[in-house]
Amino acid sequence: MVRPLPQAEPFRIKVVEPVNMTTREERAKKIESTGFNLFSLKSTDVYIDLLTDSGTSAMSDNQWAGIMLGDEAYAGSKNYYNLLAAVQDVMGFQYVVPTHQGRAAENLLLSIMLREGNFVPNNMHFDTTKAHVLHKSGIPVDLVRQEAFDPISQYPFKGDMDLERLEDFLAENCERVPLVMLTVTCNSGGGQPVSMANIRGVSAIAKKFNKPFFIDACRFAENAYFIKQREEGYRDKSIPEIVREMFSYVDGCTMSAKKDALANIGGFLAMNDVKLYQETSGLAVLFEGFPTYGGLAGRDMEAIARGLREVVDEEYLAYRVGQVKYLGDLLIKYDVPIIEPVGGHAVYLDAKRFLPHLPQWQFPAQALGVELYIEGGIRGVEIGTCLSGRHPKTNDHDYPKLEMLRLTIPRRVYTDRHMEVIAVACANVWDRREAITGLEFTYEAPILRHFTAKFRRLGK
Ligand SMILES: *Cc1c(COP(=O)(O)O)cnc(C)c1O
Repeated sequence: MVRPLPQAEPFRIKVVEPVNMTTREERAKKIESTGFNLFSLKSTDVYIDLLTDSGTSAMSDNQWAGIMLGDEAYAGSKNYYNLLAAVQDVMGFQYVVPTHQGRAAENLLLSIMLREGNFVPNNMHFDTTKAHVLHKSGIPVDLVRQEAFDPISQYPFKGDMDLERLEDFLAENCERVPLVMLTVTCNSGGGQPVSMANIRGVSAIAKKFNKPFFIDACRFAENAYFIKQREEGYRDKSIPEIVREMFSYVDGCTMSAKKDALANIGGFLAMNDVKLYQETSGLAVLFEGFPTYGGLAGRDMEAIARGLREVVDEEYLAYRVGQVKYLGDLLIKYDVPIIEPVGGHAVYLDAKRFLPHLPQWQFPAQALGVELYIEGGIRGVEIGTCLSGRHPKTNDHDYPKLEMLRLTIPRRVYTDRHMEVIAVACANVWDRREAITGLEFTYEAPILRHFTAKFRRLGK
């Protein structure tokens, strides 16, 4: 019998960053001193930091070598041309405006396209996209399929747009919709993928109503990997082929290079329409810098260019998506309730099922985050009532359907052994769940309250 070899990391580790080990007592004190706010912890007091996958990727030797080849970016930077060539080769778009990060690309695109009172349909807006639509006096509309809100539905593409609702919406509000957007993978919906059939379907509807169609492409490569795994007809296609097909249906994309370009900073807006390129690159001078550097150093653009070519490697993606799934499977084995199936960049603990004795006004996902930090020095992030803020009309908490603690896995940073530590820590918290009490505010800022909120523990 030949044993199948286990799948391990497809890289060697040649630089390491030592991390601080703390005791449970130290952690209990530290988190209490922040007012039970995980954002206020120093990163040096965290053992495994799962706050975000944004800008936290470990770059490759090839990317670091590119950093040394960076020039003093301004007009005509060679690294800009390398970035342009990478976007043209990998994604197939003609024009690129580099930006300091993803939200800046959203700012350029939406500043040009949106007028007051316009709607922007999307499967689910990411926070910054939503904020930019609102900032331009527009109205974000989320039209994701209903399965996205069912934590145990095994539907394979829970990020898909509801095509029927999109078509109805456009039929009713056509003049007030300047563009259609689609977020792949769907971050706010748990990193759930969007199928090729759905991208094609949205494209056909957008064309029918003569609307430009843009993808929020932050995790395009992870999405392509899911298409290869789960969608009929794609098993024998290469990831670069799938990526090119995904982008062949759209007019452009906004991109945060801090995600699937494996870089620590940067982003871009890419498109095929020369007039839109002229308008957005003109605006970029105002907000970002000259259109051949967009607020980035030459070395940053080089790291992005190289990261874009690396990220479509199937071995890498199998490891990446596989590691997130490995953590999800361990948690399921321990009966810890999570959002299923796991998405591409994070595992989400389902705080409503984890702590059913805590009503949403007691911030169950935040309470869970605090306990996981105390248990294992692990920092997740609350995607629940605190993040959601207050309803503009009622001023009550704007209770979200899902109350979650997101465990976001940085790319190429932690080993599977770390995943085991996370799973055991979650299982230990699960075992003592009934003793966990809720939280209440002692301080709440009027906007973006999650960053600075302070809490105290409620009694039993
Ligand atoms: C991170 C992210 C953005 C914003 O990118 P930044 O680089 O953080 O500005 C936009 N959309 C999605 C889906 C994201 O995950």
